[in-house]
Amino acid sequence: MKKHYDWLIVGAGYTGSIIAERLATQAGKTSLVIDRRNHIAGNAFDRRNDAGVLYHQYGPHVFHTNAPSIATYLSQFTEWLPYEHRTLGSIDGRLVPIPFNLTSLQILFPKAEADRLTKILIETYGMDQKVTILKMRESPIQGVRDLAEFIYQNVFYGYTTKQWGLTPEALSPSVTARVPVYVSYDDRYFQDTFQNMPKLGYTKMFERILGQPGIDVSLETDIKDLGSEVTYDRLLYTGAIDEYFNYALGELPYRSLRFDFQTYRQGRHQAAGQLNYPMSHDFTRISEMAYLTQEWSDVTTVAIEYPMAHVPGKTEPYYPIPRDENHELHNKYIELAEREAANVVFAGRLGDYKYYNMDQAVGRALSVFEKTIMGR
Ligand code: FAD
Ligand code: UDP
Repeated sequence: MKKHYDWLIVGAGYTGSIIAERLATQAGKTSLVIDRRNHIAGNAFDRRNDAGVLYHQYGPHVFHTNAPSIATYLSQFTEWLPYEHRTLGSIDGRLVPIPFNLTSLQILFPKAEADRLTKILIETYGMDQKVTILKMRESPIQGVRDLAEFIYQNVFYGYTTKQWGLTPEALSPSVTARVPVYVSYDDRYFQDTFQNMPKLGYTKMFERILGQPGIDVSLETDIKDLGSEVTYDRLLYTGAIDEYFNYALGELPYRSLRFDFQTYRQGRHQAAGQLNYPMSHDFTRISEMAYLTQEWSDVTTVAIEYPMAHVPGKTEPYYPIPRDENHELHNKYIELAEREAANVVFAGRLGDYKYYNMDQAVGRALSVFEKTIMGR
């Protein structure tokens, strides 16, 4: 039976689901949301494994934002559990806070040397200030440069070359700037004003976002397989823009990952929610789900992340690779879209080719609805 919708929405992640919700509740528009995966929630999807542990199928997802409007929007669909993420890096066989901070310094250096470096950092940058590793390496002060070199080699170089297959310099400085050196004893991974996890998990939150009258969801449905039974006026596409155009201008590079989930019969497996391994192993980090979900029991599940090259059609494009030449190619795809697909809206981490966190994906979705779609 033929069915007509106002909108076809490709992708049931944050971008697609939120725009569908806004269209239904704020504009009275119907939509069909499709996803080629067998679940909603995109990369934020979580579920229970056979041992009953709630885990994040696509790696640890920690919600944090400084935007009250984004927290307020999502609060319509979930209650929250306060959670402040902490990460330890394994350096020289010792576990130190990441982002690298004054405590990391005290653990790794003899006391007198740590005190000397602490004093220089506070004099140079001020207490509770952040500085990116690439900026710190350019400091005119020899002591700062020496310390920067140590941190660069021990925290950033190995991790970044594993994660991206590229050195920190070959990437946009914004990548390593996500984890700046912190002249502080605050050992939290984020300092955002809102740090909470959805109380019943991300997927439950997405069920409520998508559970509006006027929204149909079709899983295991690729846009390429959509038959003539479905018709629609407009299209929102949150998949990869190069794939939409059949790679007409060449492939946009992405980085992929393999997740190895291990479940142990023990209450707690590691000393923090996330352990980073910048210098050793083929994996970058191990995350223990119970820290994030706060569901502790006598079994615990960890996710071990192995970065790898992305092969279109074979692996998942988890990370756009932020560097100038890739953004230039993405801009050419945008121009192509303006010429040949003016009625299609592209958005999201893949559609925009931007390294969005979840809150940024929410913010982008809300702004696409208001500005691009409603013209307000
Ligand atoms: P996605 O969630 O990628 O959704 C796009 C959907 O489109 C996918 O489900 C895909 O299957 C579907 N799709 C694509 N092409 C087609 C097609 N042709 N037909 C049908 N369906 C299609 N953010 C944080 O804030 N905190 C974190 O701790 C965090 N950790 C992360 C860890 C990892 C390993 C990764 C990869 C990301 C992490 N993020 C984190 C980022 C977060 O996942 C994204 O910001 C968010 O999921 C983006 O939502 P989206 O809707 O744009 O894209
Ligand atoms: N990074 C690093 N060492 C670390 C942590 C991060 O070199 O111990 C660099 C690395 O390039 C990484 C980037 O900083 O990809 C961003 O880290 P973040 O934790 O934000 O990555 P994500 O959670 O998005 O994978």
